[in-house]
Amino acid sequence: MSREVIKNSKRWVIKIGSALLTDDGRGLDRSAIAGWVEQMVALRQRGVEIVLVSSGAVAEGMTRLGWSERPTAVHDLQAAAAVGQMGLVQAYESQFQKYDLHTAQILLDHDDLSNRTRYLNARSTLTTLLQLGVIPVVNENDTVVTDEIRFGDNDTLGALVTNLVEADGLVILTDQDGLFEQDPRKYPEAKLVPQASASDEVLEAMAGSSVGGLGRGGMTTKVKAAQLAARSGSFTVIANGRESEVLGKLAAGDSIGTLLTASQKPLAARKQWLLGQLQLQGKLVLDDGAVKVLQQSGRSLLAVGVREVQGNFLRGALVACIDAEGSEVARGLVNYNADEARRIMGQASDRITEILGYQGDEELIHRDNLVTL
Ligand code: GLU
Repeated sequence: MSREVIKNSKRWVIKIGSALLTDDGRGLDRSAIAGWVEQMVALRQRGVEIVLVSSGAVAEGMTRLGWSERPTAVHDLQAAAAVGQMGLVQAYESQFQKYDLHTAQILLDHDDLSNRTRYLNARSTLTTLLQLGVIPVVNENDTVVTDEIRFGDNDTLGALVTNLVEADGLVILTDQDGLFEQDPRKYPEAKLVPQASASDEVLEAMAGSSVGGLGRGGMTTKVKAAQLAARSGSFTVIANGRESEVLGKLAAGDSIGTLLTASQKPLAARKQWLLGQLQLQGKLVLDDGAVKVLQQSGRSLLAVGVREVQGNFLRGALVACIDAEGSEVARGLVNYNADEARRIMGQASDRITEILGYQGDEELIHRDNLVTL
């Protein structure tokens, strides 16, 4: 089956779960980490950008605190995660350093990605890091949320990050070879699913609710994550992180693991997602020049082309761009709140700092967050 979609991809979110990262509950498996880092460096040399989503903080924290048994109280797990996160980032940082690469710690929760202001902030930080050639290392912010601690849910976070950075694909490394038609632990003869559409309903039944030991995200959360990733047109691969050179093999198009494909092209998916999930919170009346620019060249909307700002909205809100006659030409997520937008409208972007007193985004709506109608 064709793996061209993976071979041709340029931006991956790679999710590594607790079950793989920990040495059977004895803290982080540093030699395994060294192996994945080496593979990720090779991927980068092939021109693939990487965002890493990694668990393992609780396990490392338990070791550091000398706890041999996983505590049951959530606050103890959170404390362990806070201690262990230090070791987790240290492990990645020291390995990547060998290749002269920097890492960055990003702690997120689901709310960060559904709140529009935070969404734009997280997005611009992550894309800036990628431009700088840094490897972002993302984990759930266990101090304030406990989805992963409770539900084993870093798969979902991986998918949301995939949407956020518009990655081509989400690669979920786990301790199994992929998704099987039946639970391979009960049915040793079970067949691996090499490829399917992420939206295929049969997958959820196949995934069942198999729940592993240390990592508690079963196959069901992985299938759901693939469906989420597909919203931005991204594929998902579920593969065995212990297979030698697993990342290189995937990048070369080898048929390993399970590939779950998105049914829509990235752009169409993203437009639908942008338009579908948010309510309009304001309007920007554009001058004729800006209308032309948006319609003809698909460029970003600059403040200079706006004549009037209607409504009261926050940074990250969905606003309509209308022409002088009131017909809508585009919709997008705005980088400034209504008050700021009023102050900078009609002005050149290089005056924004002087007017607002801080240096924000150059565009009022970035083209990536803009859909012309
Ligand atoms: N985010 C946590 C971690 O990285 C949770 C994992 C767990 O519950 O074991 O360790």
